[in-house]
Amino acid sequence: MQNTIMRHDWTKEEILEIYNRPIMNLLYDAASIHREHHNPNQVQVSTLLSIKTGGCPEDCGYCPQAARYHTDIEGNDLMSVQQVKAQALRAKAGGSSRVCMGAAWRNVKDGPEFDQVLEMVRTINKLDMEVCCTLGMITENQAHRLAEAGLYAYNHNLDSSEEYYKEVISTRGYQDRLDTIDNVRKTNVTVCSGGIIGMGEKLEDRAGMLVALASLNPQPESTPINALVAVDGTPLEEQEPVSIWEMIRMVATTRIVMPQTQVRLSAGRTSMSREGQAMCFFAGANSIFAGDKLLTTPNPDVNEDMKMFELLGLEPMRPFVKKAQPESVEAQYSAYKDQGEKPKWSRPEHKIERNEQAKQAAKALKTS
Ligand code: SF4
Repeated sequence: MQNTIMRHDWTKEEILEIYNRPIMNLLYDAASIHREHHNPNQVQVSTLLSIKTGGCPEDCGYCPQAARYHTDIEGNDLMSVQQVKAQALRAKAGGSSRVCMGAAWRNVKDGPEFDQVLEMVRTINKLDMEVCCTLGMITENQAHRLAEAGLYAYNHNLDSSEEYYKEVISTRGYQDRLDTIDNVRKTNVTVCSGGIIGMGEKLEDRAGMLVALASLNPQPESTPINALVAVDGTPLEEQEPVSIWEMIRMVATTRIVMPQTQVRLSAGRTSMSREGQAMCFFAGANSIFAGDKLLTTPNPDVNEDMKMFELLGLEPMRPFVKKAQPESVEAQYSAYKDQGEKPKWSRPEHKIERNEQAKQAAKALKTS
């Protein structure tokens, strides 16, 4: 039987042993732990909304929104509060309990755009939906401002192991990710942090990422597991898709080392069959992203998901089941003000050959 005590000292070797178990044992072990901590027939449904798309200064090798690569992404300035409200209402009607707003920023800067995001948070929280943001690195004061506005969760993915992270991103360091998560932890906002498989990493890197996530104390309240969607023009465009078995193993292993976390099936669901997704739910996934787009990459349509739920006897989870709804403090009463912060987050700027090549190819296309 599994050790279901909450542990923060998992080793890579222990996690690899779990990941590589015979699949029947792995599924049984993960499903048993899942049932101890969660209702196995409830799945949380989140809608991911890109509130500011493209033009990002970072060089994440998997991302079509990085300005330096040539992709088909159409950039958009920050959406208005009214546009976001309309999308949130649509998401709620489609069964989503959470709206996750993503902006293609390196980090948050105090100023009118951040004030607008805070207003979006207040507006969605008042619709009685959980609000999540993914805005890049944030300071402690910015985390408090988001918390006061009524933010429920902040997403900041570790992406991979610390070692492999350096092979994918050169414009910021792993420690900045951990520091941002730490800043979020100084508030009541819950932490959402996970990663991507299929970027060319070794199994040791997948285990290394889970060591880093499981070591956080408390562990993240939610962990997205993404399968890379290789987009033309990005440095990772030629990566082979991960198999469903790798996804199932990753989900099951995440469930075992982080028993209370909501494990989210994220990018890459379009290439998974219903049977494959059902196996992932059995293995402990209990959250999905809904909507036909995941920021910029395709995702199953809401109706398709609801049909799958009906077929599997699953029901969408109500909002605020795991934690009470935060109150939104209006801007004028906020205890945390705009401090005009211009934090200096690190820029390792080491050379990643494939990132350089993708950047040069984009430059060549622009000048041709
Ligand atoms: S993943 Fe985020 S930070 Fe990285 S390039 Fe894309 S939008 Fe920018």
